[in-house]
Amino acid sequence: MNRPAIDWHARAAEVRPDGRCFIDGQRRDAVAGETTEKHSPVDGRRLGAVARGREADIDAAVRSARAAFEDRRWASQPPAARKKVLQRFAEAVLAAREELALLETLDMGKPIGHALTVDVPATARCIAWYAEALDKRYDEIAPTPETALALITREPVGVVGAIVPWNYPMIMAAWKIAPALATGNSLVLKPSEKSPFTALRLAELAVEAGLPPGVFNVVPGHGGEAGEALALHMDVDAIGFTGSTRTGRRMLEYAGRSNLKRVFNELGGKSAFIVFPDCADLARAAATAAGSMFFNQGESCNAPSRLLVHEDIAERFTELLAAQLPRYQPGDPLQPGTAMGAIVDDIQLRTVLGYIEAGQSEGAQLVAGGRQARPDSGGHYVEPTIFVGVNHGMRIAQEEIFGPVVGVLRFRDEAEAVRIANGTPYGLQASVWSDHLSRAHRVARALRAGTVHVNQYDEDDITVPFGGFKQSGNGRDKSLHAFDKYTELKTTWLRIDAADS
Ligand code: NAD
Repeated sequence: MNRPAIDWHARAAEVRPDGRCFIDGQRRDAVAGETTEKHSPVDGRRLGAVARGREADIDAAVRSARAAFEDRRWASQPPAARKKVLQRFAEAVLAAREELALLETLDMGKPIGHALTVDVPATARCIAWYAEALDKRYDEIAPTPETALALITREPVGVVGAIVPWNYPMIMAAWKIAPALATGNSLVLKPSEKSPFTALRLAELAVEAGLPPGVFNVVPGHGGEAGEALALHMDVDAIGFTGSTRTGRRMLEYAGRSNLKRVFNELGGKSAFIVFPDCADLARAAATAAGSMFFNQGESCNAPSRLLVHEDIAERFTELLAAQLPRYQPGDPLQPGTAMGAIVDDIQLRTVLGYIEAGQSEGAQLVAGGRQARPDSGGHYVEPTIFVGVNHGMRIAQEEIFGPVVGVLRFRDEAEAVRIANGTPYGLQASVWSDHLSRAHRVARALRAGTVHVNQYDEDDITVPFGGFKQSGNGRDKSLHAFDKYTELKTTWLRIDAADS
């Protein structure tokens, strides 16, 4: 029997999220008792009060994490036991699928259909994958003379501070939480002030699944308050940060001003999507560009926001791209069929509209979109927007917009395409469209980006690393490589006597 369709509006009316801190396995108000009112970008409704964590709250959370690390209540459990807890945590996330998806949609505006089919399953899969991986890595023995044995082992780094953005609140948190917990660390998570609710629920679910209290703490709050206090804390051993390049720079400064904690930055992007004239399926290229660009309202670090198209096919490609736009008109995020939802808040909406104005004043031509949408909804929406005639030096070609705005840049030959593609401070992702095998390989190799796609853009999996070159960051989330961030290498020398006397 089919389940009746869920009335998400009715469910949303019932939502009363708990915005208090989660420290030492318990909810608590901020020490100073301060809160921030959180409204939904979907329709402006009030979602609730969120604790405004500051230095005292961060300090309490770090002390709780440190105590949990020092008494080894988590790190000393046998790998099989830690695996079981994390597997139960992943199952709990799936069991709470509808609750978490609705919170995510109301908090940051993404369509409920995407939250249900992408964000929740990807979060659970990430946790389950690291649970499964945690006893698949072996330590090493170095080649030494027979009189000695050198063991090279990986140990948890200690107390990890995780600071994450609002665009994929749960997935970004899971990319830090899962490998950090799998390797035996304790952590303090500071979610974005724009989307705090699912992170707080994740911590509760983890403790219900058997994670000892104190191992995973969450303090909501503003970047310059709770975020800064966490990154400056003398008893935090490493920071796993995802966010803008501007804030990533500050993370390095904070480490320099405090205890030289390890900093792993996953930052912004301005990804190039390069289409050569020998691309056999231009329609698929255009559909993929639109799908990847407008997914999550363009609020993705890896959105292919620069479409570099050979001058001979630029006109045809732009027509095909524009033909995709009806599918991506902003709609009600609580309707399951909606493909593009709300921009996270009024500040981001103004930023996006400001870039649209900048593009026009710098001489790019607006061929579609460009306006605020659904003005009567009470929320924040922008039309999917295409610029042509974009020059490499324009702000819309150099700066991360983080909204549904894409620019088409023309190039004449392969060398120029590579030069333009590599010509921003970023290096997160890129895509090459060509049916010429050697060209695809040659260009993929020449691109300075952490991930290069060939004739596609949407493949993604927890098994592969995610991160950038240049000012897109220095860490890698996902895959077994993420374990490197949350462990220290230790060498232990053992003397072996020639004979027992
Ligand atoms: P942001 O840098 O403004 O904020 C990110 C986090 O840092 C938030 O929790 C915020 O409260 C905190 N923060 C802000 N200022 C701080 C400060 N002075 N001290 C300490 N913490 C501070 O970024 P955002 O607007 O939340 O997210 C969008 C950015 O994230 C984009 O640039 C996007 O490309 C990037 N991003 C990167 C990846 C990746 O994997 N490379 C993934 C998702 C998003």
